[in-house]
Amino acid sequence: MRRYSAFAIAREAMRQHLGWEKAWESPEPREHYDVVIVGAGGHGLATAYYLGKNFGITNVAVIEKGWLGGGNTGRNTTIIRSNYLQDPSAAIYEKARSLYETMSQDLNYNVMFSPRGVMMLAQTEHEKRGYLRTAQANALQGVTTEYIPPGRVREIAPIINIDGPRYPVLGALWQARAGTARHDAVAWGYARACSDMGIHILQTCEVTGVRSASGTVTGVDTTKGHIGCSKLGIVVAGHSGQLAEMAGFRLPIEAVALQAYVSEPIKPALDCVIMANTVHGYLSQSDKGEMVIGGGADNHNNFTQRGSFSHIEETTRALIETFPMLSRLKMLRQWGGIVDMTGDRSPILSATPLGGCFINCGWGTGGFKAIPGSGWGFAELMAKGHSPLTAAFSLDRFREGRFIDESVAAGVAH
Ligand SMILES: Cc1cc2nc3c(=O)[nH]c(=O)nc-3n(C[C@H](O)[C@H](O)[C@H](O)COP(=O)(O)OP(=O)(O)OC[C@H]3O[C@@H](n4cnc5c(N)ncnc54)[C@H](O)[C@@H]3O)c2cc1C
Repeated sequence: MRRYSAFAIAREAMRQHLGWEKAWESPEPREHYDVVIVGAGGHGLATAYYLGKNFGITNVAVIEKGWLGGGNTGRNTTIIRSNYLQDPSAAIYEKARSLYETMSQDLNYNVMFSPRGVMMLAQTEHEKRGYLRTAQANALQGVTTEYIPPGRVREIAPIINIDGPRYPVLGALWQARAGTARHDAVAWGYARACSDMGIHILQTCEVTGVRSASGTVTGVDTTKGHIGCSKLGIVVAGHSGQLAEMAGFRLPIEAVALQAYVSEPIKPALDCVIMANTVHGYLSQSDKGEMVIGGGADNHNNFTQRGSFSHIEETTRALIETFPMLSRLKMLRQWGGIVDMTGDRSPILSATPLGGCFINCGWGTGGFKAIPGSGWGFAELMAKGHSPLTAAFSLDRFREGRFIDESVAAGVAH
């Protein structure tokens, strides 16, 4: 595949942009693959990419019922950070964050990684103590974060009202090299690089059943026919329960909708990401100038990928005390995605009771930031049967009570 470069843009400008190649192929399915990944979201595509890049395994199909990147990967608010409390979480999220730093060069695709800084506001004494503890844990884990006082919060983000009557800002957990990236570009960049290695991406192909013999996976039934495989990776976020049922096991996962919305575009007003977890809201400003706003997940199980008026009202109302300028904005668009929540708010990257079948899910409200680290570790797990990055996130932890409690870092925050 021809590389994207300044030279290529100049060349194509000279010939009316008629020479660009397709970013990825749309092949017919083979009868059998070494590895089938179900779900062409960021995690599925990254897994396929690192299987090829790190282990030379390219007889791989990524099967997607809709279009690639059309699930949560194309619906999230793109926050990237690694300031988690527990060691296994900090390891996988920091691995991911560091891979984001060089992802555009690695994939030869501009994913617009913007390390603009992420701030998590402390608005109660309890929250302040929690973030002071996280800052100390991060120092031990080699993750660069700091707890900053209210004056510094206002310096970084002058639009904040730190003297709110109900929830004054007492400080914040600040990660300067955290930020955002363009979500679609992450999916498209991985897809293009996978296709370049000969990996098949089969879109509009729904997996409807999992076949096995003697306790080992042999293939999947799809709307394009049966496809055989030696190993199967299930990476379908909110639909993990359905796929697990097809494979004959159950998961400790709930599916709920998580919503977000954007305002009309305005002049640059905010150049970092801010989360106000006590009041259940967070915001950043997109390159187009829209304020990108989100809140907590719906409090009932559902599969509707839609927004609702009550969510806009509740979240905006919660944020207005700290961000009074929001009261003057018109809200333009809203949407939802189906997120996969575990009880300890940590993901599952694991072998399963079905031989040769692996599962990567449970990223809940915060898996965009993890895509490269998750793909890296899950590819290693699928190729070698073990990965230091994923070991703590096995399904066994729910049976053995080894929970990785990230409810402070991931309960509301994204
Ligand atoms: C509103 C919102 C805001 C968010 N904000 C953030 C944020 O700021 N930062 C952050 O880190 N995370 C955020 N997240 C979470 C993040 O988006 C997800 O954790 C992440 O994108 C999950 O990626 P994935 O590849 O696992 O899933 P997905 O991108 O959902 O991909 C799974 C794919 O599987 C496919 N699939 C399902 N069933 C089948 C089947 N039977 N056959 C074939 N294909 C199937 C689906 O069509 C889908 O494309 C947010 C999520 C939402 C909804």
